[in-house]
Amino acid sequence: MGGVHQLPAGGPAVVAHAAGDLRIEDVPLGTPAPEEAVVEVAYGGICGSDLHYWLHGAAGESILKAPLVLGHEIVGTVLQGAADGTGPAAGTPVAVHPATPGPGAARYPADRPNLSPGCTYLGSAARFPHTDGAFSRYVNLPARMLRALPAGLSLRTAALIEPASVAWHAVARAGDVSGKTALVIGSGPIGALAVAVLKRAGARRIVAVDMHAKPLDIAAAVGADDVLAASDAAAIAAVEADVVIESSGNHHGLASAIQGAARGGTVVMVGLLPAGPQPVLISLAITRELELKGSFRFNDEIDDVITALADGTLLIDPVITHEYPLEDALEAFEMARNSAESGKVLLSFGATG
Ligand SMILES: [Zn+2]
Repeated sequence: MGGVHQLPAGGPAVVAHAAGDLRIEDVPLGTPAPEEAVVEVAYGGICGSDLHYWLHGAAGESILKAPLVLGHEIVGTVLQGAADGTGPAAGTPVAVHPATPGPGAARYPADRPNLSPGCTYLGSAARFPHTDGAFSRYVNLPARMLRALPAGLSLRTAALIEPASVAWHAVARAGDVSGKTALVIGSGPIGALAVAVLKRAGARRIVAVDMHAKPLDIAAAVGADDVLAASDAAAIAAVEADVVIESSGNHHGLASAIQGAARGGTVVMVGLLPAGPQPVLISLAITRELELKGSFRFNDEIDDVITALADGTLLIDPVITHEYPLEDALEAFEMARNSAESGKVLLSFGATG
């Protein structure tokens, strides 16, 4: 490959205009900056934040002030490499790290750029102007965001790399989990992926919790030893887990997480609770000397996930339950919000090889 391609002028994209107003419309591609590659998108996974922009016109404190191209869980193939010579060449299948660390010298640990103030993320209205996402047939992306996929890893499975990296980061926040009992509260895509990561990391027993049967089936398929209904408080408390991953994102789930933790245990909170004060069962956390740890996005874990998928040690395919063509994006979003029926829902953008 090489030489100058005739680039497309643009293509269809999934754009959130306001609450309840999701459109498929053509967006121009624009001229790539010297450090940008042009990527032809194959698949995009629909994330909770995408659903929030569609349903509420906001995700937490990030409020839509202008139309936003959604999507940060995408994979595709490089159509044209960056002109400055960095990053993968044309023809390379790639996953995408959606974060751009913020500038400045504010205080945060140097090895945790996910915590840098002003960090931007694809498909996010956290800043203004918003950072457009990549639910579009073609997108210009900084070459530093791109990760070449190893041979033999399908683009479809690779569409889970971004959320799996979130789950990997959450499990890593708990420290060494090998030989330990783990409890996962909320078995949606992030929870199920956390189960798979815990399994790979050698947890002795993994118990998954959800309100619905289908997510529990998925959790069992990726490595949960036992599953429990969210309503079964006594059984959850009896788990006495060394490590709990809270991925439900609501305070009832966080209460279950604290009740299910063993004395001296660790609770990692990766499910994002709503902004503002939340009721928390904090007295037990104090008297049991629990460690409550936040977990937000990820850093280089994306490379660990890709390696583990390539060598077959991380098994996550059952997390994908549905796939829709871009034209049916609205139907796909409806299915994705139905957590009783779906795991990860993918959009396919036509370049799926
Ligand atoms: Zn996501």
